[in-house]
Amino acid sequence: MYYVKMLPYQVREAIEKNVPVILPLGVIEYHAEHLPLGTDSFVCMNAVERVEKRHPEVVVFPQFFYGCASYAVAAPEKNGSIQVDCKNLIPVAEDIFRSMLRVGFRNIHVFIAHQTEEFDQGMPTDLAFRTAGRHVIFDWLESHAGEGWWGTEKYSNYYSGDNNPFAWIQMHPFDVILPKNCTFKNDADHAGICETSEIMAMYPELVEKDRIDNSLWYARTGIDASAEYGEALLEGAARGIEANIGYKVED
Ligand SMILES: [Zn+2]
Repeated sequence: MYYVKMLPYQVREAIEKNVPVILPLGVIEYHAEHLPLGTDSFVCMNAVERVEKRHPEVVVFPQFFYGCASYAVAAPEKNGSIQVDCKNLIPVAEDIFRSMLRVGFRNIHVFIAHQTEEFDQGMPTDLAFRTAGRHVIFDWLESHAGEGWWGTEKYSNYYSGDNNPFAWIQMHPFDVILPKNCTFKNDADHAGICETSEIMAMYPELVEKDRIDNSLWYARTGIDASAEYGEALLEGAARGIEANIGYKVED
């Protein structure tokens, strides 16, 4: 279900059932000369859409497009990247999360397909959303259970199971889980064979392979891209999302 298409009674039912709520993040970033600026956003959203199709009870929020692209790959001038500083994202993310909690959601999952190679340490967009999520939960607990909540009997076992308020908002890496019999390589890149393949699988009309710029090291492998490989990676990403939100993923 897409949140903005839901009626209030459906929102109430989703809260009652505590279904997973997904917030897909995006970014607008230069992806060499042959791929669209929304590549990372499209990849994330496509995987989420696959999950929604198989589990229509899942609530999908509108994608947040304005992540921290950074200018690591290319300067924005005449190239297109839109950079929002992470410190400016934090208050926006806090307001989104605070509203989600006030609506009643307690099973919120955020996904991103941009700069996730150092996910344990974090990168600006996911760190901004993680900081915001933690901040909002601490605020919520202090305003609802009072300062000193941690020391009360009610929270004596909050680390386990359903009693853990820090599970209300979770930030996940973009895990690709390929089936055992899949012969494709589980890999990721920036505008190389993986992302070129993914866009070919989704929007073949947006890929212009003859524009691959061989002076850009990261784009060269794009020449070997195929829609079949992209389909396998996107399907693997959907399986990764399913695993992260608590669904069983078959081999
Ligand atoms: Zn990318």
